[in-house]
This record gives sequence, C-alpha cells and structure tokens, in this order.
Amino acid sequence: MFIPISVDDFIKEHLENFPGENEKVLRVRLEEALANYKRNVKCNCGNDIWVVGAVTVWDSCFSCITGKKHPAGDYEIDSAIEKRDKYGRRHIDEMDPLKIAGMFDDEGYEINPDSITKPSLCLVCLKNIDPDWEEELLCNLNRNDQADDKEFKCGAFEKL
Ligand SMILES: [Zn+2]
Repeated sequence: MFIPISVDDFIKEHLENFPGENEKVLRVRLEEALANYKRNVKCNCGNDIWVVGAVTVWDSCFSCITGKKHPAGDYEIDSAIEKRDKYGRRHIDEMDPLKIAGMFDDEGYEINPDSITKPSLCLVCLKNIDPDWEEELLCNLNRNDQADDKEFKCGAFEKL
C-alpha cells in the first residue's frame, strides 16, 4: 500500500535523506506532478502517475518507475493516492488505507456492484427481497465469481 504523506512532510523527509537536493526545485516538481495527476495526465502505459515518483522520473506510474506491481510501504502525496489503471480499475494497494471498503476480486481489484448482473435465480430468492449489507456483499461476490459461467449456482439460495 501507499503511505499517505503531505507535500511538506515528504519534502522534509526527502531532504533528510538527500541533503544535497534543492528544496525549491523539489517543491516545484512535486506540485507540477500533482497538478498533472489532477488534470488526468497518465503514464505512457495508461496508469495514473505516481506523484512522488516525479522526484526521479517525470509523469510515470509506480509500476513503470519501480518495476513493482503494486506499492508496499511507498509514499504517495495524500491527495493523489486513489489511483486507477488504464482499465479504470482501482487496486486495494492503491487506495487510501483508511478508506478501503467494498468488494475486491481475487487479484485485489475493486468490484463495482453496479457492474454485476443479477442472475434470474436471485429474482426468486428470499434474500433478494430485503438483503442486509453483509448479505448483499456475499451475494455480489458470488455473482461476480460466476460472472463468466453459463449457469449460476448459489449455496445460500432460499426459494420465495
Ligand atoms: Zn506506467
């Protein structure tokens, strides 16, 4: 995951590690990269850019700069933490750790409940009438898992 950090705190930390760098230059680079992120400037590969990465490589995403798939304890400016890849998907490691909620597939990508179609079996299920939040989550996970299957099976089905 990314560790959220403010521009000021990041500059402070960076200058402690690299005392030779120019604070003004650093700030200008970060602020310009942040502005680019907000203007939806993307990495060549299509992913959102890693603002902190602008210290070394301009307008590139975390993966292209580091060669790693997802961040693990790397910094990102707090207002640029929620990233999307070229498919518009969000990964659990690229979300604000304090705001993670909802559903994720086996690879860790967020599932949009609106994108899941309800199988006809659900329409005659007791649980579909008045599902509580947790029940609905389980139903949606099950539906998503079987999205590509011809026949929908459900162990929790209760006939109306
Ligand atoms: Zn990239």
